[in-house]
Amino acid sequence: MNELDRRSFLKTSVLGTSAALAAPSLLARFQSAAPEEKNTKPVIRRTLGKTGISLPVVSMGVMRADSPALVRAALKSGIVLFDTAHGYQKGRNEEMLGDVFTGVQRSSYVIATKVPPEDIDWQTNTIGPGTTKDAFLKRLDESLLRLKLDSVDILYVHGVSAREHVLHPALIAAVTEAKKSGRTKFVGVSTHKNMETVIDAAVESGVYDVVLAAINFQYNAPENFRKATARAAAAGIGIVAMKTMAGGYFDKEKKKQVNCKAALKWVLQDPNITTCIPGMTTFDQLQENVGVNEDIKLTGEEKDSLTMRESGGGMYCDGCSRCSSPCAKHLAVPEIMRAYMYAYGYGATLQAKEVLAERRYSADPCRDCLICTAECIKGLPIRERVTDVSRLAGVPDEFLA
Ligand code: SF4
Ligand code: SF4
Repeated sequence: MNELDRRSFLKTSVLGTSAALAAPSLLARFQSAAPEEKNTKPVIRRTLGKTGISLPVVSMGVMRADSPALVRAALKSGIVLFDTAHGYQKGRNEEMLGDVFTGVQRSSYVIATKVPPEDIDWQTNTIGPGTTKDAFLKRLDESLLRLKLDSVDILYVHGVSAREHVLHPALIAAVTEAKKSGRTKFVGVSTHKNMETVIDAAVESGVYDVVLAAINFQYNAPENFRKATARAAAAGIGIVAMKTMAGGYFDKEKKKQVNCKAALKWVLQDPNITTCIPGMTTFDQLQENVGVNEDIKLTGEEKDSLTMRESGGGMYCDGCSRCSSPCAKHLAVPEIMRAYMYAYGYGATLQAKEVLAERRYSADPCRDCLICTAECIKGLPIRERVTDVSRLAGVPDEFLA
């Protein structure tokens, strides 16, 4: 990317809109609210399958949060489950949580972290020989060190998308050992694509306690998903929902914002979803999301607000993978589309770049293609988005948020 392109990219795209903390007055409002001003309705809680953990229906996705004050405010506002991952902010996210929770009564919060398999071939979507029990446990031990904990509550194998991933012997051995050795109380898998298959494989395994899955009002086949969560619930597996805001916007220009409360409520209409982990980076978002803990009734008006408001299909890719085989280069399109959502929806450009870098994509992997043969079932403009977001590969980290 030349200097001019880089400047215009920074100006016209995601960087000008990266998440920022709210004004300090909001924090003060949060901290100083008198008891009578605070929530008075009972908090709606659900039990996370056979783990028996009772959770408010709204939890915190910490992925993009970098403010200890925000996490403390979340704890104070009644949030119990905090979700992080080995790779978030290159480990700083776990370190921040470790600092925040130092000295806090251990039984007052639930920590979930996610460790990815060491070796995945993204073209064939297969787990490579570098994925071993020891490699996985080594990463988990690094996470525990950062979190300043001997044990997390939930350990997920991160980002699996096939039955073979869920049932992979090295990963099963790793999570079994993690549980046996007390490094975690419960184990699960997280998934962004082929989710119904992953949920069924988790049931089949008899090993996993929880599945963390991406679901929101833009998902193309919600009935299939709900049938899978019902099967999981019958087997005692708890379901946690992520990506509930579908990127937060319908458009990359950020003119059409998603009604976040309505989006959370939509997800929670499935009684088999225990809790949602919306990402929060501001005190305003925290206040808005926590309000859903008292009222999950989805009004007609809220439902209408979630109706697709543009023909471009919104920001969210379902991760169905149906476009990956027809793609001439067998690109991991769902992952690239997720990077697009991170960049344009969340303003998380660095994280988007990391998703691309993990898959070793350079700028514009589509450049040699004469015709795009990858078609999206939802009509998302695949080539346009791949070309657009992959420009991040050429932008130095210090320019990114
Ligand atoms: S142009 Fe289409 S078919 Fe070619 S690499 Fe890009 S997404 Fe795949
Ligand atoms: S881009 Fe479309 S077809 Fe491809 S995985 Fe996403 S939703 Fe499915």
